[in-house]
Formats: sequence, C-alpha cells, structure tokens
Amino acid sequence: MKYVIDPPRQAALPIRGSSDLFPVHRIYCIGRNYAEHAREMGHDPNKEPPFFFQKNPDNLRTDGKFPYPPGTSDVHFEIEMIVALKSGGRDIQTEDAMSHVWGYGIGLDMTRRDLQGEAKKLGRPWEIGKAFEHSAPATALIPASEIGHPTTGAIWLDVNGKRRQAGDLNQMIWDIPGQIAFISTLFELKAGDIIMTGTPSGVGAIVKGDKLHGHVDGVGDLHVEVV
Ligand code: MN
Repeated sequence: MKYVIDPPRQAALPIRGSSDLFPVHRIYCIGRNYAEHAREMGHDPNKEPPFFFQKNPDNLRTDGKFPYPPGTSDVHFEIEMIVALKSGGRDIQTEDAMSHVWGYGIGLDMTRRDLQGEAKKLGRPWEIGKAFEHSAPATALIPASEIGHPTTGAIWLDVNGKRRQAGDLNQMIWDIPGQIAFISTLFELKAGDIIMTGTPSGVGAIVKGDKLHGHVDGVGDLHVEVV
C-alpha cells in the first residue's frame, strides 16, 4: 500500500537541549481562562465558564518569526503556557490528569481579532480568526522531568520592551488537571496533543516590525518578531 500523494509532514515541536522532536497531534486552546481577560473581552467570568477551540498542528512555528497574516488589519497577541501530553484517554479523572503530561512550553495564540469578532457576531465558527498559518508561534518544549509542574508564577508579554500582558499561572479559572479532565469528557485525548492554557489580560494589536518577548516563570522565554 502506498499513499496516492505525498503524506503531509508530521507537525512537531523541538525539545530544549535535545535534537529529538515532540510530534503534535491536536492543539486544544482554552478561551477566557483568566478572569481579567474574560472581562476585557466583554464577558462575565462568573456567568460564562471557559471553553475550548482548536488550532491546526501545522500552525505551530518555532523559528521566532510571525508573518503578518492576510485578510486582517487587527492581529492580537495572546501569551499562553503550553501543556504537552504523552498519553490520553476519555473521561480522565482530575486526580490522574497530571500523569498524562509530558512537558511544557510557551506559545502565542495569535488572533485575527477583526475576523473573530465578525464570526462571533454572526454566530459562525472561529477558524478564520484563530487557526491560520503561523498562528501559533511557540518555544521548544521542556520535559516535566526537568522542571516539574508549574502551577504558580508570572506569565507576561512585552512588546518592544514595554509590558503589555501580566498575570500569574495561579489565576487560571480552570487549572491544568481541570482542563485535561474537561476536554477528555468531549474528545479522546491522545499522546501528542497540546493544550494552550489561556491568556492573561492586556491583549492588543501588533504591527510589522514589533518584537514580542513572552515569559513564564519556570518554563522560559519566547522571542518572536512580526515580519
Ligand atoms: Mn487564547
């Protein structure tokens, strides 16, 4: 048996300090997981719980460049911690959830906010706002065996040296075990799935030439230039 066309390349993330790669199966993104960010987007976090959407695995990019995408004039940054799973399942219990985590990284959930806003207004899906080429700049992953499981610590983003987003991992409405448990009630999680765990407040627009510097305590730093 052979494929009738060349099979697409396996999406993957590098691993810090190694030439090995982490193969990526799916990207789950959590929306409005920090209360202040939910409020800045015009929502009440007490009335509307967080929720999920997806990006495409091949939207990941790890060379420090973010090409300004077409069809938009309002592209926003969202700095997020990434969780990478080494195993999965359905209906995972919160107390077992962390045993599925392989490691961590940092990513940007880049968003065509104008197209997302229009989709929201019309009750349409979010892909055109969220799941476009290069929309997930990310760092190499770091195994939990090296850094443990970060549950508290600063998460921030500077644009051109100015602090724009700032929060703490302990401000997540749904913590990591809660996210894994919840997703696994709706989807079958698999080894290679990654979760973008939500963004703190302060999201805003970028232009070509901007230099983004994201940080998560205990995980590291992400440097991305808008080109
Ligand atoms: Mn996001």
